[in-house]
Amino acid sequence: LQESDPVEDHQITVCIRKRPLNKSEFARQEVDVISVPSKDEIIVHQPKVKMDLEKFLENKRFKFDYVFDETCCNELVYKYTAKPLVQTIFEGGMATCFAYGQTGSGKTHTMGGDFRGKTQDCKKGIYAMVAEDVFKFLKSRKYKKLNLAVFASFFEIYDNDIFDLLANKAKVHILEDGDHQVNIVGLTEKVVDSVDEVIELIDRGNTARASGNTSANRNSSRSHAVFQVVLRTTGTDRIHGTFSLIDLADNARAVDMNPPNRQTKMEGAAINTSLIVLKECIRALERKDAHIPFGGSKITLVLRDSFIGEKCKTCMIGTISPGMASCEDSLNTLRYVDRVKEH
Ligand code: ADP
Ligand code: MG
Repeated sequence: LQESDPVEDHQITVCIRKRPLNKSEFARQEVDVISVPSKDEIIVHQPKVKMDLEKFLENKRFKFDYVFDETCCNELVYKYTAKPLVQTIFEGGMATCFAYGQTGSGKTHTMGGDFRGKTQDCKKGIYAMVAEDVFKFLKSRKYKKLNLAVFASFFEIYDNDIFDLLANKAKVHILEDGDHQVNIVGLTEKVVDSVDEVIELIDRGNTARASGNTSANRNSSRSHAVFQVVLRTTGTDRIHGTFSLIDLADNARAVDMNPPNRQTKMEGAAINTSLIVLKECIRALERKDAHIPFGGSKITLVLRDSFIGEKCKTCMIGTISPGMASCEDSLNTLRYVDRVKEH
């Protein structure tokens, strides 16, 4: 995989990233049930028991545009997923990149990175790497003359409400203007000039995301986080292109919640609905359908303009945990991402 170049003409790219077993999984002697035989294939070795109690493994094989095994770093994942889409926004288009998966499978590690302590083991995620390339493109001969300015915003969608992660989680609202443009009123948009500034914003937003939860059940895994890089023509408020990077809510089934109560069930149902609507919107984009059901949830409404037209490109990264205990969740993730794109 390292040696080949990404295919650049995909409108929709679907891929899977398998993370390594972690310390506590090792401690529990969890078995790795996922194998990656080639750069676009993945196999789940699902343990099964026959009628006569004989144990066996059932192999379930899936194909995607790319499959990243546990040795792949964020830089490599970026190269094949979001990186080819940076050009899209400079050419006046809309780009989106989603991370989808169960709790602890690596969504935030992939998208937001790990900045804990800001020491040498700080790892950049896709948010920061997109920003890095955007600044490079901005200075290039080809795009300098466009006279663009870069803005960043970071918000979270929890249930049906939107909170500004760059303004102490102030609640903000969606409005459709006369041209049917979807706007989030009052959302902070910071002008950014360097990668360091962007990393600062990501760090601030991630901290806000993890803190100040009002309800005991409320945590970041129950919300979608959206980091947006917006290019505007300098001196106007005209949008040239937008890159939306989304760390989706955990896809865990509501029934698994412990203890199961009304609140968590309602949240689970809202998350499931939004993930199903999202899948339908991406499929409609690929089929070039006239009707795209983005009104079905807040996340798709916010991203509405990213599902319309030739100039929209999207990629989805399904993240999976390798352990046997995660087998069912991993299969759910693989099936979902598989259905996002018609093969
Ligand atoms: P999620 O956001 O899907 O709930 P996280 O991104 O928070 O999951 O990952 C859970 C833990 O696993 C974190 O400590 C993270 O650093 C670690 N992790 C996730 N993916 C990887 C990876 N590919 N390599 C190394 N560590 C990882
Ligand atoms: Mg997370």
